[in-house]
Amino acid sequence: MDISTKLVSILKELEPTGTTLVAVSKTRTPDEILEAYNASQRIFGENKVQEMLSKYEVLPKDICWHQIGHLQTNKVKFIAPFVSIIHSVDSFKLLNEINRGAIKNNRIIDCLLQIHIAKEETKFGFSFEEAIGVLASPEYKSLKNIKLVGLMGMATLTEDISIIKKEFHSLKQFYDSLRKEFDFSILSMGMSSDYRIAIDEGSNMVRIGSSIFGERHYI
Ligand SMILES: *Cc1c(COP(=O)(O)O)cnc(C)c1O
Repeated sequence: MDISTKLVSILKELEPTGTTLVAVSKTRTPDEILEAYNASQRIFGENKVQEMLSKYEVLPKDICWHQIGHLQTNKVKFIAPFVSIIHSVDSFKLLNEINRGAIKNNRIIDCLLQIHIAKEETKFGFSFEEAIGVLASPEYKSLKNIKLVGLMGMATLTEDISIIKKEFHSLKQFYDSLRKEFDFSILSMGMSSDYRIAIDEGSNMVRIGSSIFGERHYI
């Protein structure tokens, strides 16, 4: 199947659930992205700053670019002028740097706190307690050019569906406990291997790469 066929079939599947699709285009060429774009997709996710920047420069300007991978503070300035949402805020230092970048560009940047729900130590993100600490801090409240609009999480890479379910469930409960007070609207969880479980557990934004573009090739 070609990219547009796979994209359209996933969009059809997501539609009744009201879930937003981030098409994860890391390692894909601008031509591959254009194929998805021409099939109506406007939200694309990248995990490397240089890659996002070079694609931003050559692709249509109505694309919303989502930063989904770990972001180093010294790279924020490159995407601050145009990035739509940063899913991967995993430290207060990074949030502060995004705020500085947003001020320089005279804009407000939407962000998600990445929460560590998986068993793997290698994954990034705050614990629930750390996230509450950030949200309650006066330092956070003083950052006027970022807006935290929700949470992002990645489940453990495992065949055991019950583990994935439990992790997504715990993140949804945490999200619900904060949603009203902090005016959250986005819960970003689920990728190619587990997005159906994530949606069942209450995700409203999924990040899907290989199920749209095929197995990843590295550039
Ligand atoms: C690569 C990536 C995805 C998409 O992964 P697929 O398995 O290709 O769907 C989703 N989220 C993040 C943070 C990623 O880095």
